[in-house]
Amino acid sequence: MDSLPTVILKPGEADRILAGHLWIYHGEILRVSQAGGGDASSPASPGGASRPPADGGLVQVKDHRQRLIGTGFFNSKSKIVVRVLSPDRVEADEKFFEERIRAALAVRQKHLPGATSFRVVNAESDFLSGLIVDKYEDALVVQVSSLGMDQRKAMIVAALQKILSPRAILERSAMASRKFEGLAEANGILSGSLDGADRSALSSTRCVASSESGDVTPQSKMTVNLNGLKFETDLVGGHKTGLYLDQQANYQAVSQFARDAQVLDCFSFLGGFGLHAARAGATHVHLLDQSADAIEASKRNAAANGLAEKCSFEAINVFDWLKAQTAVKPHEKVIPRFDLIILDPPSFTRNRASVPDALRGYKEIHLRALKLLKPGGTLATFCCSHHVDAGLFQDTVLSAAFDTRHVLRRVATYSQSLDHPIVPMIPETEYLKGIAFELVR
Ligand code: SAH
Repeated sequence: MDSLPTVILKPGEADRILAGHLWIYHGEILRVSQAGGGDASSPASPGGASRPPADGGLVQVKDHRQRLIGTGFFNSKSKIVVRVLSPDRVEADEKFFEERIRAALAVRQKHLPGATSFRVVNAESDFLSGLIVDKYEDALVVQVSSLGMDQRKAMIVAALQKILSPRAILERSAMASRKFEGLAEANGILSGSLDGADRSALSSTRCVASSESGDVTPQSKMTVNLNGLKFETDLVGGHKTGLYLDQQANYQAVSQFARDAQVLDCFSFLGGFGLHAARAGATHVHLLDQSADAIEASKRNAAANGLAEKCSFEAINVFDWLKAQTAVKPHEKVIPRFDLIILDPPSFTRNRASVPDALRGYKEIHLRALKLLKPGGTLATFCCSHHVDAGLFQDTVLSAAFDTRHVLRRVATYSQSLDHPIVPMIPETEYLKGIAFELVR
């Protein structure tokens, strides 16, 4: 282990890592030493300048007094130069991944007992920066966004096979973040197959799929069970890795407001909120999404769950729909007609700079939705932008309520499901928040 290259942090930079954060940026590094003591960052060092550690390789991290504070993956090309794996000395071998993944799985089994589809590994939340693994029934979808993880994909696949024996492991590493690690997109089958038939050529581990190879089975649709409801999911073409698993617990929680309700599900995607509301006793659910494919899939999902008769669907821009429904002549009032309105838009922010625009968007949909909500009705609203925190989000809703002269009572707050664990020392692990408000008047 002493043969590992060493990254030495500047004075004052170790505390954040000791407290549990995993990212080390360029500006925090005092110097990088080669294995064996050569100084890679200072040409004047004794022993002469040597090459820096290999990108993707393991390094030990020490504070400026040379005390070990962790082991992690190095990548000189990334803004995040080291992604810490452990506060101790570790080998990044198959056994390490097996232990970490088993520990992550145990967290899900504890908090989501009975769930058959969930996120098994959520990157930093499970101290595996750069790795996401989602379980959709007997298939796994892997997203790899760091070089260190990418170089160990075969080990990770082997560990996953050992622990979960999946029918197939797909990769959907198409995220923009890979670019910052010097990685190309990678989509394909890492092992097994989603076809009913056993395709022996694919049954062994293969970790070479790239976007050019297009090595994706056409049989990428499968039925996923969430809280006892069936959802047809496209593991290759769908959003994220297929479904919004982070809302699984919230579908169930929000549906408690749906009994005998006229429900509006805005940004409905495959119908997660809407279909749970329909099952929970809603009189009628209207689902809106601008994606025609999502609307078609949600129609099939409603039918598959025997809920089609209670549901209606529209492929439309929610902003346009709400504007049209709330447009009235001067001196006329909008007639509120919904008992439960769900707003679960995509993140309107990509970075901090776009927050003001995003807030205008959030305010606009709340202004209009509130006009359609009956007194005593419930508005369940979500924000999945990391850059808009719970306080700012609530302020935005209240500012809309002020403009429409409504008074709200907060009846529930929501977060991401517990398979997307929040580690407060790593603020980036927290992004989804939701609030249910009752319309007092
Ligand atoms: N509530 C969904 C997830 C919503 S994700 C669930 O739990 O599964 C956001 C959805 O909003 C996507 O399906 C996307 O197609 C849709 N969308 C994005 N912008 C939209 C707009 N302006 N109008 C309508 N739908 C939109």
